Amino acid sequence: MEKDSRCPCNSGESYESCCGRYHQGFNDPNTPAWPGTAVALMRSRFSAFALGLPEFLLATWHPDTRPAELELDEAIVWQDLDIIRTEAGGPFDSNGIVEFEAHYRLLNQSNSQHEVSDFVREGGRWYYLDGDD
Ligand SMILES: [Zn+2]
Repeated sequence: MEKDSRCPCNSGESYESCCGRYHQGFNDPNTPAWPGTAVALMRSRFSAFALGLPEFLLATWHPDTRPAELELDEAIVWQDLDIIRTEAGGPFDSNGIVEFEAHYRLLNQSNSQHEVSDFVREGGRWYYLDGDD
């Protein structure tokens, strides 16, 4: 993806200044970057689904709930993200909740996934824990 393209998470920012720096920096010891809030992590995970970056999704998944491996369904085209509500999830919180609706197309049909996701912060890093529909 071009660095100056619109970020897939629909923030209105460029990819580079939004989710791209986390996708680049999450495992880069020279220029490390990790989302500082639960909602920033949520956005960067949506963008990782949209761009097909399973390594980033696994790295930001809490070890307690992380699947052993992750195969992304290439038939799903993630299109848009609406953040509906957030609770806590700031740089000094240890837990956070993000409610969202993620829009996608599958077999030429528009669909969406609504979820209330739980995030935890450990060792200074936010992780996705789990979610309810
Ligand atoms: Zn973004």
